[in-house]
Amino acid sequence: MRTIDHHIVGHSGGGASRSHVVFDPNTGQVQATVALGSQAELDKAVAAAKAAQPDWARTNPQRRARVMFKYKELIEANMEELAHLLSSEHGKVIADARGDVQRGLEVIEYACGIPQVLKGEYTHGAGPGIDVYSMRQPLGIGAGITPFNFPAMIPMWMFGMAIACGNAFILKPSERDPSVPMRLAELFREAGAPEGILQVVNGDKEMVDAILDHPDIAAVSFVGSSDIAHYVYKRGVAAGKRVQAMGGAKNHGIVMPDADLDQVVNELSGAAFGSAGERCMALPVVVPVGDKTAEALKEKLIPAIEALRVGVSTDAEAHYGPVVTAEHKARIENWIQKGVDEGAELVVDGRGFTLQGHEKGFFIGPSLFDHVTTDMESYQEEIFGPVLQMVRAKDFEEAVRLPSDHQYGNGVAIFTRNGHAAREFAGRVNVGMVGINVPIPVPVSYHTFGGWKRSAFGDTNQYGTEGVKFWTKVKTVTQRWPDGSPTGENAFVIPTMG
Ligand code: NAD
Repeated sequence: MRTIDHHIVGHSGGGASRSHVVFDPNTGQVQATVALGSQAELDKAVAAAKAAQPDWARTNPQRRARVMFKYKELIEANMEELAHLLSSEHGKVIADARGDVQRGLEVIEYACGIPQVLKGEYTHGAGPGIDVYSMRQPLGIGAGITPFNFPAMIPMWMFGMAIACGNAFILKPSERDPSVPMRLAELFREAGAPEGILQVVNGDKEMVDAILDHPDIAAVSFVGSSDIAHYVYKRGVAAGKRVQAMGGAKNHGIVMPDADLDQVVNELSGAAFGSAGERCMALPVVVPVGDKTAEALKEKLIPAIEALRVGVSTDAEAHYGPVVTAEHKARIENWIQKGVDEGAELVVDGRGFTLQGHEKGFFIGPSLFDHVTTDMESYQEEIFGPVLQMVRAKDFEEAVRLPSDHQYGNGVAIFTRNGHAAREFAGRVNVGMVGINVPIPVPVSYHTFGGWKRSAFGDTNQYGTEGVKFWTKVKTVTQRWPDGSPTGENAFVIPTMG
């Protein structure tokens, strides 16, 4: 059986005392084992990062960008291999796996422009003969801890920015699908990055804790579920690190009475059920405004959901594939039962689905609930599966309030033809990323990604200029090249520029 080790400079592999199984979700079989590292492996990686980082930081930004350009070409050249590898461990269909790689690649493309974004600020003549300028300097060693659901995109969000800014980076990917992150690190070396600049340590909580406590790691970026995000944030900050920790989500799609319902049904099918609902920007809650809208929407949704094709991840016709593990499948089915017990109406039941010839695969059919209410735990918590919950709002005000009052605030969408309503909604809703007739509003790489409330801890987003801000610190220089130096009592008072 294939074993997946670490990508650490000078680490020869083998000798892992603990390991974790990696499934093929299509068959339900174990296809590999991954080493679960500990402090010793992390120390090795940190030592290599420490040795490599100063030279990398001194490498001028344009040269660093050249490595990113080369990397972009290599990822494009290896797109199919990466997408298949990703799909085989995650279970998302190939087209979606390509999208996963592509959205990460877009951050690498942004990183190709790093010389432009790293330019500092300059004031000539802030006082007599005095100029002030600022520069952004790397932090040193950064670490990233990533979830299973975007094993290509999220690592690239993090290391693309961190490394372009002059840091060394240590990635701790999800133990459920670690092969693509390992491959991404190999390709980065091929692109000409010095060894030690991007390393991968595999592991679980033990490795995460070692990262959070390591005195030589300056910053940690985390993406995963909210309780763990909160834990990572608190422990990392207590250890004096800069931390950004993105958490779970429960995104709402508001459907106004004037919306084009055919378009909504089409968009919702993809946004709620694509990737088996295992996306932090999925739309698992639909909020029709008014009972008339709700009834009309439901009538169109039911056949659309029933027509969804669930298949193996390599089936080009399948809308979505299996979920990641049997454990996660059971968790989703428990949530469905919970919804029933809480009194929601289960209109389409996806439980008990089996795919012929793949009876042991982790497949689950699509489910639709109606009459879900805010007091239900199945509404308050994230399900992270192919389950769409309909919460009826009586008017626009309630439609703004529902996502605003929810504990999560990652994304939200509104479907309407009314520009004024959309504008009001976008301005008032208490959520970090808003789509207007766009179901999955993941911002492009030159904007920035980040939710609000329990969807993100820390105050800096992923990628874009926010990413640059997270992975650098500002130094401000006030310079004077005078004929002489301040003398006498002037040397003892706070300088003013006038
Ligand atoms: P997860 O929280 O189980 O795991 C995330 C990372 O934390 C993994 O690397 C894992 O090894 C590590 N980890 C797991 N248990 C830990 C523990 N007890 N202590 C320390 N570290 C631990 O998340 P997941 O199931 O891999 O991913 C799905 C979750 O991620 C969902 O909640 C989803 O909404 C969220 N997510 C959020 C975003 C976002 O940007 N907000 C993006 C993608 C996914």
